Amino acid sequence: ITDKIHALPEGANYFSLEFFPPKTAMGFANLQTRLERMAQALRPLFVTVTWGAGGSTATKSLELAEICQRQLGLTTCLHLTCTNMSRSLVDEALEQAKVLGLRNILALRGDAPRSDEYRDENQVLEEDSNKDFTWAIDLVKYIRKQYGDYFCIGVAAYPEGHSDESHPEHQDPKIDLPFLVEKVKAGADFIMTQLFFDVQAYDKFERLLREHESGVFKTIPIIPGLMPIQSYQILRRTTKLSHASLPEDILARLDAVMGDDELVKQVGVKILSEIVEHIKKQPGRGRRGFHFYTLNLEKAVSHILEDCHLIPQTLVDDEAIAIEFTPNSLS
Ligand code: FAD
Repeated sequence: ITDKIHALPEGANYFSLEFFPPKTAMGFANLQTRLERMAQALRPLFVTVTWGAGGSTATKSLELAEICQRQLGLTTCLHLTCTNMSRSLVDEALEQAKVLGLRNILALRGDAPRSDEYRDENQVLEEDSNKDFTWAIDLVKYIRKQYGDYFCIGVAAYPEGHSDESHPEHQDPKIDLPFLVEKVKAGADFIMTQLFFDVQAYDKFERLLREHESGVFKTIPIIPGLMPIQSYQILRRTTKLSHASLPEDILARLDAVMGDDELVKQVGVKILSEIVEHIKKQPGRGRRGFHFYTLNLEKAVSHILEDCHLIPQTLVDDEAIAIEFTPNSLS
């Protein structure tokens, strides 16, 4: 991923898309068709595949990553959590990722599995028997120790602070900062953020990192996480789960149309496009990336990408232009 980012021209924009493995074979087949379409039409720099807490989706996550990487030829990043997982499951996942040709891992701590999360039928969930991994940094260190530079490693960050059920009050990014510094020092190559709608909070967070006295965030890619608005209910649920705040003006615009699903989506596309355009305008260093939590859906993200001119030209277009302008003497 970072090789691809660095190969982009200075000032270029890029984006990535997140997918999760569906529960059923039918869901997989539908997603595969959609992915083929999205890969061709949208041309993301890379895609990511989520990992169920405790390894609950291990087989299916690897299956989806294989489809993305091998069948569709997309640069794919596998999310991998490390708590509530046996050491052997971490080893298996990394080995399998290597066999599949994956070169990118998003190294995460993970949360305790939620009761509504499904499990692979052949997956045995273990209690937190693995004392080697307490925090995401332990996984970053482990991957570097076992695999050297083979994997490009991403880590998570929280523009509005990290909080979970045990620490719901931790809504200050400064609390996490020393740990984020350590994750980067341990070998993380890029940072991907939790979803947010409060763009001022994101600006502040990015500034905090870039200006940090440690200097470790000076040039590392920081990719803001954005979730297209699919419906009013999904928005309220996901922002609650991720502790992302909804600024009043955004909420008011959505409240005004909340009875009409189609209008909610349209207003949602506008809101997300404004966030992207705002971030694009910030005086940033180098190339600007945007990561979209697609929830496996196609339309909203496609509209945002089109509106924000984030879809790269095809090679075919580039070649056609090159041929058209090749002087006779060179052709
Ligand atoms: P860590 O970096 O370990 O941090 C967790 C908390 O512990 C933070 O509050 C941090 O400040 C604190 N902390 C860190 N180190 C220490 C230390 N040494 N001592 C004391 N406190 C410390 N979850 C999934 O299950 N599957 C996924 O696919 C998934 N994908 C995600 C993708 C992104 C981009 C993001 C942002 C999150 C994702 N998550 C996923 C959720 C993530 O697993 C949870 O938010 C989890 O609670 C924290 O993970 P982390 O990697 O940020 O943990």
